[in-house]
Amino acid sequence: MKTALRSWCDSHEIPLLGIASAQAWKEPLFHPWIPDAYHPDSIYPGTRSVIVIGLPIPLPSLESSPSIQYREIYRTVNALLDQYTYRITIWLNQAGYPSVPIPRDGYGGIEALVKNPESFFSHRHAAYLAGLGSFGLNNMLLTPDYGPRVRFGSVFTKAQIKPDPIRTDDLCTRCMECVDRCPVRAVSPDGYPEGLTNKTACAKYSAGLDKKAISPCGICIKVCPVGSDRTFYGREDIGIYREDAADNPLKKAWNHIRSHGAL
Ligand code: SF4
Ligand code: SF4
Repeated sequence: MKTALRSWCDSHEIPLLGIASAQAWKEPLFHPWIPDAYHPDSIYPGTRSVIVIGLPIPLPSLESSPSIQYREIYRTVNALLDQYTYRITIWLNQAGYPSVPIPRDGYGGIEALVKNPESFFSHRHAAYLAGLGSFGLNNMLLTPDYGPRVRFGSVFTKAQIKPDPIRTDDLCTRCMECVDRCPVRAVSPDGYPEGLTNKTACAKYSAGLDKKAISPCGICIKVCPVGSDRTFYGREDIGIYREDAADNPLKKAWNHIRSHGAL
């Protein structure tokens, strides 16, 4: 089953795939742990495995953020994740394994997040339990290939699939860039899960950006030094995101993009 899933993902340009056992949600690894109502087996009783896929955000698409450029790529990746998890579900159903896709965003827009800054299921935690990365100070899942610049989608299935091992290494370098660069000081320096990001402050900031059609914010994602995508794109120097540097060669392009698309 896993080989067939890997093959399907390869043929659809899906680089990240991991499997978590539904049982993993029942065995807390840190505190606070995921509440029962958010467990796969609570949402879809009988779930045995959770299939998690990840699609990267190409780093340069994010660098002008907040901007229309990142907003559109973010939406495209979300739409693809929903399409792929739907198609994997139908494929599994046709093979005789009852399955259900979990929508990428389990909330009704940014205003809903301001009222309740949680979706009904956390794909980040699913990706963690599927062995795809470790949590960073920015509370995002950091992956070796893309750092936090990857979005995840999940399928709940009654198929019993061998789970992937949870990563035991810590990819976060504690560089504090995400803490220092957050415009509303929402990121705690205390690490995850001791220092939870102030999701309400983050959602309120994004709601303001949404009114200008340039949400989400994405700053704590673009400045993170983790991920081999930085080398691939020649962006090892995080200092380029300190935009007060007068000689930053990329600033002209970012300002051009930012001068378009916003309300
Ligand atoms: S997305 Fe922006 S506002 Fe939210 S935590 Fe990250 S840097 Fe802060
Ligand atoms: S920016 Fe630095 S401190 Fe923040 S998550 Fe990435 S590596 Fe960790």
